[in-house]
Amino acid sequence: RPIPVWDQNTPSQASDHAKANGNVVRTRFPPEPNGYLHIGHAKSMNMNFSLAFEKLGVAPENRETYFRYDDTNPEKESKEYIDSLLNDLTWLGWKPAKTTYSSESFEFLHDCAVKLIKKGLAYVCFLTKEEVEKQREVLKKRVAVIAKGGDPDKQCESVSTDIFPGKYRNTSIADNLRLFEDMRKGKFPEGHCTLRMKMDITSPNPNMHDSMAYRIKYTRHPHAGDGWCMYPSYDFTHCIIDSLEGIDYSICTLEFETRRESYYWLLWALDLYKPRVYEMSRLNIAHTVLSKRRLLKLVESKTVRGWDDPRMPTISGLRRRGYTKECLNTFCNDIGATRNMNLVEVNRLEQAARVCLADVARRAMAVVDPVKVTISNFSGESKTCTVPNFPQNPALGSHDVIFTPTFYIDSADVKPEADANFFGFAPTQLVGLKYADIKVRCDEVKVSGGKVVEVTCSVTDEDTKPKSYLTWVSAVHNIPCEVRKYDHLFSVPEPSDKWEEEVNASSEVVYSSALVDPSVASLCNAGLTDKWKSNNAFQFERIGYFVVDDDTTYVAETGKGKIVFNSIVSLKEDVAK
Ligand code: ATP
Ligand code: MG
Ligand code: MG
Repeated sequence: RPIPVWDQNTPSQASDHAKANGNVVRTRFPPEPNGYLHIGHAKSMNMNFSLAFEKLGVAPENRETYFRYDDTNPEKESKEYIDSLLNDLTWLGWKPAKTTYSSESFEFLHDCAVKLIKKGLAYVCFLTKEEVEKQREVLKKRVAVIAKGGDPDKQCESVSTDIFPGKYRNTSIADNLRLFEDMRKGKFPEGHCTLRMKMDITSPNPNMHDSMAYRIKYTRHPHAGDGWCMYPSYDFTHCIIDSLEGIDYSICTLEFETRRESYYWLLWALDLYKPRVYEMSRLNIAHTVLSKRRLLKLVESKTVRGWDDPRMPTISGLRRRGYTKECLNTFCNDIGATRNMNLVEVNRLEQAARVCLADVARRAMAVVDPVKVTISNFSGESKTCTVPNFPQNPALGSHDVIFTPTFYIDSADVKPEADANFFGFAPTQLVGLKYADIKVRCDEVKVSGGKVVEVTCSVTDEDTKPKSYLTWVSAVHNIPCEVRKYDHLFSVPEPSDKWEEEVNASSEVVYSSALVDPSVASLCNAGLTDKWKSNNAFQFERIGYFVVDDDTTYVAETGKGKIVFNSIVSLKEDVAK
């Protein structure tokens, strides 16, 4: 089969675009406002705003990326999504050369459709949905027979000519123009007819089997308003707008590869400038789903707290989880953009977070599940301890924390019986208290109802070195808080078709009586204007990285309200997982 005349992946050299653009190389990022952006989109943004230009060797001053709302499905789109897209893109630090809406070109797209009809390359089709499906099936079987060198007229079951070659393919141009005008004027009910492109029903590529260009929808458009009762399809819109905007490289994900031919067919049919098309693999991350449709279901079923739930792989979720834009962009650079299909381990994202947080999240002490400890022989009432903000870099200062003879430690640091492999509080065990320069020997671990409730111990000045130095929070000087610990959203690495049943039931565990040292107070204020500055993230010593959540109502001046912390990532990779 010879390569069809339209199927050439080269830009039209003589186009006005090529002349007008000069040295500028233009890409675009075209999300549909039918949900929030996720980490897969971050990969696409990184490619379109940066990596593609690096690969091509385009000088920074010659780079242009358009941010385009691919908004042709009004029933799934909304103002909320439109706003969130821009918000997330801006937060990630990308600056579009221009922001466009496909819907602002509805008039132009309509004119293209009329032009196509006039060329005899589009027709209004009244086949029912079932008939169109039947037709697709028949065409598929026929091309399969052709591919094997057979004769489809002899080898395929005979069907009505309404289905093959299709009842409406040969309507006159004049009638098609009138019928399309009737569609636009709202003379037909929804689903009654569509405008289809008259492509190539003998093509082995099913995307060439007269794909739909316009369908009737009596839905108000969230951006264009009330002007339309029919809307163009993705296949019809995408290439025309790429062309109209003078895009040099139209980068999409691999599942669109089979649509390349229809992309070029339409631009050929309309005699429009042809961009270059490039496909890269879709990002998939283990233990999560990267599909707006699925993420929407999680939101609607209230499985999560919303689009910005800290477990969500959305940009807003990752932001609320404490991921900085540097971290997300570093991750995207690390994974790169190739055609290889791959499932990226969550740990690669987590490792990017650890690297970014190490230098910005200062130390603090917290106990997530507190157990009270009392020293029986402590002299004095308290002791002021100096804690370095970043032990690896003393130049970044320190803060004071007050130690008192009654304090709290985490329940994970106590056991009712001594154990050779356990270095926390257990009867007779010697432990050090971090930053307090105090060694204590455990006298008693009180248990009630099978649970450790209290520990008593005494200061000792013996010469033995403790096996561990535990973190603590004073019983007098502390701030109560809520700590939300997060784990994978899905219990399996690759959620299947039954993904809704594979949600990890303990992906969020809430500790409502946690305590944190008061040094964090002013940095946790609910009124902080730039909430997502790195100073809202802390390394809780020995526990992990945590960030102040949006649900925080705490006001440092009055001490009223609640602080909520989200776990960002553990200190080290959890090898057990
Ligand atoms: P979803 O299924 O989540 O809705 P989509 O591809 O329909 O994804 P769009 O809003 O149309 O989402 O995507 C805008 C751009 O982002 C497209 O160019 C698309 O290819 C790209 N993109 C979307 N998801 C991913 C992903 N997981 N990895 C890489 N690029 C992606
Ligand atoms: Mg899409
Ligand atoms: Mg989609």
